[in-house]
Amino acid sequence: MPTVVAVVFTCSVCMKGFKSRKGGKVQMPCGHVYHEVSIAGWFMHHNTCPNCRCKIFQENLSWETFKLAC
Ligand SMILES: [Zn+2]
Ligand SMILES: [Zn+2]
Repeated sequence: MPTVVAVVFTCSVCMKGFKSRKGGKVQMPCGHVYHEVSIAGWFMHHNTCPNCRCKIFQENLSWETFKLAC
């Protein structure tokens, strides 16, 4: 059996599950998933993924245009 990749069910910014807060969730290019509202607040002060510290660049202020720069 291949190792199953662990799926993160909680947002590392607010430490809450994805069902406990309204709003969309966003997947970073590194694969981590956060609440859209949580990661928006995080990126006001940081430009790294809260989980793996990869640098994330956001182009055109759209969640679909994240670029990874580890
Ligand atoms: Zn969150
Ligand atoms: Zn990450």
